[in-house]
Amino acid sequence: MEKARQRLLRDLSTRVEDQGIIQAMGRVPREQFVPAELAHEAYEDVPLPMGEGQTISQPTMVAIMVSALELRRSDKVLEIGTGSGYQTAILSILARDVVSVERIFSLASAARERLSALGYNNVTVHDAEEELGYLPEAPYDAIVVSAGAPRLPRKLIMEQLANRGRLVVPVGSLEAQELMKAVRTPEGFSVKSLGGCRFVPLIGADAWSEAESDLEA
Ligand code: SAH
Repeated sequence: MEKARQRLLRDLSTRVEDQGIIQAMGRVPREQFVPAELAHEAYEDVPLPMGEGQTISQPTMVAIMVSALELRRSDKVLEIGTGSGYQTAILSILARDVVSVERIFSLASAARERLSALGYNNVTVHDAEEELGYLPEAPYDAIVVSAGAPRLPRKLIMEQLANRGRLVVPVGSLEAQELMKAVRTPEGFSVKSLGGCRFVPLIGADAWSEAESDLEA
């Protein structure tokens, strides 16, 4: 496993410029976030199933998304879609505070326990509510949406992202999306595409309805 880990970190370091992200990824034991029977695949560069029909993001995709957030140590970050908590742990090393929301209660509580057992203390995992994101703690310097949205979440950007804040979100159909990056300005925001990707659906307010997302399953 150690060999696979070194190989993965080497590959990742050719994909993103910020080596601080690679160091953070090197410090997070991904085998603790994947189901025990898949631990031997923890350092392959692939998404892995985590139960409840959800997947733990591929390490390369995590590196690309986190890199697009341009994090500073003083930043407060919102993550939508905690999942296993793997990306949450990386964010926790790179930012001041991480607020993460997850709509599947069993995943949220497992991630909460795992993150606290591993000593990631600047993280709070909330059960997702009706509203997309987590308004009580807004504004955030960076927001990462780890599930695919049908359209750009404008309300989230306008209401929860700080001025100059960065948001990354996959936008597209249920089958394929484009990773979009928005940067908040005093008047609105600018957007650019970072390329193709494939995520499980973002469900709820301003996203897919449960019925729509089931058509895919
Ligand atoms: N980055 C995570 C992967 C998360 S998969 C990891 O590495 O483990 C996407 C997660 O988003 C799923 O767990 C799904 O339940 C959650 N999700 C979908 N819609 C959501 C919403 N509106 N609010 C919060 N979480 C949501």
